[in-house]
Amino acid sequence: MELKKNQEILLTIEDFTKDGEGLGKYQGFPFFVKDTVIGDRVIAAVTKLKKNYGYARLVSILEPSPYRVEAPCPVARQCGGCKIQQLSYEKQKEFKWNLVAGCLHRIGGFSGIEARMEPILAMEEPWHYRNKAQFPIGENKNGEPVAGFYAGRTHSIVPNTDCLIQAEINREILEIILTHMNKYHISPYREKTQEGLVRHVLTRVGFVTGQIMVCLVLNGKAGQFSNLSELIHSLQTMEGMTSIIVNTNTKNTNRILGPECETVWGKDCIEDYIGDILYRIGPMSFFQVNPQQTKVLYSKALEYADLHGNETVWDMYCGIGTISLFLAQKARQVYGVEIIKEAIDDARVNAQLNGMANVEFFVGKAEEIVPDHYEKTGIKPDVVVVDPPRKGCDPVLLQTILEMNPEKIVYVSCDPATLARDCKTLCEKEYEITKVAVVDQFAHSTHVESVVALTRAICDDGIAKVD
Ligand code: SAH
Repeated sequence: MELKKNQEILLTIEDFTKDGEGLGKYQGFPFFVKDTVIGDRVIAAVTKLKKNYGYARLVSILEPSPYRVEAPCPVARQCGGCKIQQLSYEKQKEFKWNLVAGCLHRIGGFSGIEARMEPILAMEEPWHYRNKAQFPIGENKNGEPVAGFYAGRTHSIVPNTDCLIQAEINREILEIILTHMNKYHISPYREKTQEGLVRHVLTRVGFVTGQIMVCLVLNGKAGQFSNLSELIHSLQTMEGMTSIIVNTNTKNTNRILGPECETVWGKDCIEDYIGDILYRIGPMSFFQVNPQQTKVLYSKALEYADLHGNETVWDMYCGIGTISLFLAQKARQVYGVEIIKEAIDDARVNAQLNGMANVEFFVGKAEEIVPDHYEKTGIKPDVVVVDPPRKGCDPVLLQTILEMNPEKIVYVSCDPATLARDCKTLCEKEYEITKVAVVDQFAHSTHVESVVALTRAICDDGIAKVD
């Protein structure tokens, strides 16, 4: 195949990459094309050629995909937060379900897995679902302060106070802050010179409790912000306002929050529920960003764990213990392990807040803590739940799980490729996948969450279970 740079080629877009680029093939050779969606027939100009794939720039759409929709957000393309907003939600759901099925099939070798997969659990109204927003503050050409989002892979701000996936209340909060900054000539932070005061506005909203937190991230202390009490007064009149915090970040860094927080009004934290469990959320706490779908995901995990009250359960990669506490409602004893100490501090507070004495948390690497605990105590869990980061489970941990031989393993995953790889290891001998659920937590992005139930096919008495 002879192809040159800038040569125009005809492509039919068949798939998406993780970054939301369309994928089409020219005489079997794959090309990635930004701004296209599955089903588009396009003319694209070759921009880069590698050995096994290439990149091309969209020139024109010959035939738009039947699944193409006008992105409801006017800045969707520049912002880059919602990579697939121009694909109909129905098709997004199909894409995500197929992605999980495809990985389990191709990488895991689970043929016919589709029969064990439930229909995707998606949102009825896939908008305004995020409970946490971090808006960078900058200035426009006229020197007026603006809030928005960084344009994809850059640090230039696309002004937008009305993000369609964020809580609607953010718009009012940002307008109050920007008006105040304008009135008192309070400067936004400028990354280049590291001057200026206001870096970010972070908001958190409890979707069930209605509590709101506003955190101003300053290149300085609260005392440097002109007429702060007047701003506090305006914000505090908003229904649900619970906590106003100033965070100080004076470093030249990409990290949004600095180490120091000062509560300038109200409480240090807000609270929210997922299901019946109450969580305390500080400005620094990790908390799932789509609480409605988190409840769906964790309820599935709980359903797959099939607890009756007498079980010992491990929750590995437990974060702030969200799943652990869900499980503790139904199990006799839950153990959680997580590498970040602050997350475990939150997990312990949340366990106490809910009066749960049957959970014990450990700080450390799951692949070290779990084998060590097993060796010292000999405790074999009935159920193991894992919810690892994208890279999946550590091989040592997988081997320990196999040695502990629980009746059920529930695998919660944010990356279907590593999920499939790990399930293949787990299913080499005794385990089999009995059910799979795909949950859409992040509508309009290519992220996909799933839960897999693995059951021991051989019973304790050594006799294989009949299907
Ligand atoms: N279930 C959790 C979130 C899990 S995200 C919740 O709902 O809060 C994956 C978690 O794994 C992260 O919190 C991350 O800090 C943790 N982690 C990463 N590597 C780890 C390791 N080797 N051992 C234990 N935890 C790890």
